[in-house]
Amino acid sequence: MRVLPSLTTLACLTVATSALAQTTPAAPPPPPPSTMRAPTPADLRRGEYGRYRANNDLRHYTLDVRVDPEAKTIAGSNQIRFTMLQDDTRIQLELYANFTIEAVTLDGAAAKHERTANTLYIDAPQTLRKGRTYTATVKYAGAPQEIGRFGGLAFRKDPAGRPWITTASEGEGSSVWWPSKDQWRDEPDEGIDIRVAVPNGLTDVSNGKFMGTTDLGDGYTRWDWRVHYPINSYNVSLNIAEYVHFSEMLGDLPLDYYVLAGSLDKARVQFAQAKPMIEAFQKYVGPYPFPKDGYKLIEVPYSGMEHQSAVTYGNRFANGYLERDWTGVGISPKFDFIIIHESGHEWFGNAVSAADVSDMWIHEGWTTYLECVYVEALFGHDDALKYTNAYKKKIGNKEPVITQRGIHRDPTQDMYFKGALFLHTLRGIVDDDARWWQLVRDTYTTFMYRNIMTEDLVRFFNQQLKQDLTPVFNQYLRRAELPRLELTFDATAGTVAYRWNAAEPGFAMPIKVGTPGHWKTVRPTADWQVLANPDGAAFTAATDLAYIDVVVLDANGVPVK
Ligand SMILES: [Zn+2]
Repeated sequence: MRVLPSLTTLACLTVATSALAQTTPAAPPPPPPSTMRAPTPADLRRGEYGRYRANNDLRHYTLDVRVDPEAKTIAGSNQIRFTMLQDDTRIQLELYANFTIEAVTLDGAAAKHERTANTLYIDAPQTLRKGRTYTATVKYAGAPQEIGRFGGLAFRKDPAGRPWITTASEGEGSSVWWPSKDQWRDEPDEGIDIRVAVPNGLTDVSNGKFMGTTDLGDGYTRWDWRVHYPINSYNVSLNIAEYVHFSEMLGDLPLDYYVLAGSLDKARVQFAQAKPMIEAFQKYVGPYPFPKDGYKLIEVPYSGMEHQSAVTYGNRFANGYLERDWTGVGISPKFDFIIIHESGHEWFGNAVSAADVSDMWIHEGWTTYLECVYVEALFGHDDALKYTNAYKKKIGNKEPVITQRGIHRDPTQDMYFKGALFLHTLRGIVDDDARWWQLVRDTYTTFMYRNIMTEDLVRFFNQQLKQDLTPVFNQYLRRAELPRLELTFDATAGTVAYRWNAAEPGFAMPIKVGTPGHWKTVRPTADWQVLANPDGAAFTAATDLAYIDVVVLDANGVPVK
């Protein structure tokens, strides 16, 4: 070790920092971040896991609908099977207010219901008993609103003018097109049966395993799909078009592709990326989570969405993201961003799910990191480092990644890019790739099919690594600013002093310092330490291995620029 404490340097810096504290003018208080605005009653109804949600546990859905492309309507029913966790007389579902509810039953008997905006309360004639399982059926009809980034439920036309009807409702919620327990904490443990009747000649592709079609004899055909696993309600989807189908196998896993006829040749080329991508994720993260349901890519008129086992794709059959070099460093053009990102969600987002929107980085940060894993698996570590670090320029560091719970409000985009760079930083802390990949696999297999919060991950990482990383998780995810590594050079003494300056109490992590190619690990804390430094001002930290700010202070404690 070359750690050479120097009393004179430390004394000098103590004076310098206190002088700095006295001369810095008080900054005006910042405005409240957009994610922290006071919630409205609607936010709370939508986001809170309140009494009438928490009193029951979803078992299974049977969604049976008919979609009329001419009238632009949907009609049908959802049977919701649930087990009561408490004695109670009411449960909460959601269905957008623009739909008509034609009937509500509980175990076959008519039940009262009450609607407040998009919320639907079902009232039982007698107390629903803890431990007993019931079936509520909601019969509904209406013309869905086309809202949100990807349309909610959108009635579009394909280039030949034929119906092309798709759903994507993560933010708006599943209740934009079907009655459901529209929240993140509870998923139907036994999955969902999805039955979609469409005019003859059209195909519906939904989630899960294809179970067959039934000619209804009235010009409509019903397409049946079965999901064998828990599923986020926003992942439930229908995709209706005159699709053509091709497929391949990856071992026992069927890979099915549905595209418009005019896209077939391009799709055969572009979708060849699916197999090596799944193989890479199986190697680094773990087995594909939904083997009974298969894996599908389905062409849609928006960029794409991670619908479970039915990933939707609209990336123009070109590499990059909508034909752009998404990260701007020449790596993105090597692969199709939507195939890799949206499919990555099968592992994080769909199999390992967040229990509240506030912790959505568990979906987006991890999946963005999986892009980096894919790049490393297919193109090597150097490309992965370039790709991962290129995401820094998309990060704001203005608001924490984890936001207010129970109000269903999306965190900022930092949940993607800072989330990924945080995981990359954790890999640097572990500093042992074999250990790191084992940890990634263990995280996945431990939490698959579960809805978790960040606390669960922190507890798991602390146990696995036998160290307390809580302040590191907190600094990166619960505070806006990056941890700052402060350096002060003493040319006369030939030393550098260093410390962490971070808002989170107890924040400390090892970091590689020195010069590129000659890194050594030091363990800074909030207190100054001093190191012999033959490299002069060339001394820095390995910021491609850890996402941090490095600030050089002069002898008076003022940042050098
Ligand atoms: Zn995503």
